[in-house]
Amino acid sequence: MSFPPCPSCKSEFVYKDQNDLVCPECAYEWNPQEILAEETLTIKDANGTLLGEGDKVTLAKDLKVKGSSQVLKVGTKAVIRRMVEGKDHQLDCKVDGAGEMMVTAKFVKKA
Ligand SMILES: [Zn+2]
Repeated sequence: MSFPPCPSCKSEFVYKDQNDLVCPECAYEWNPQEILAEETLTIKDANGTLLGEGDKVTLAKDLKVKGSSQVLKVGTKAVIRRMVEGKDHQLDCKVDGAGEMMVTAKFVKKA
């Protein structure tokens, strides 16, 4: 039985420990099921365009920053750092002028 190479260092000497795969070279541990789930994430922007990690987006509407009076204007640029599955705030973004924050996918447009 063979396992996919380590996602961190590409080592092929991966072994299985219960439900997780473990890399003996860099000590990275991951769950192959979770990686599979992430690959099938289909998160779409305001126009129905599929979004991916690393994509540059702009805000499709004015957004209030939670816990402050700051408002991010429509057209503000952001980069998607990570995507998570959820009802809202699927995008972990780095937003120009606001830093890292969670943004709802349908409130952005792919740049
Ligand atoms: Zn590794």
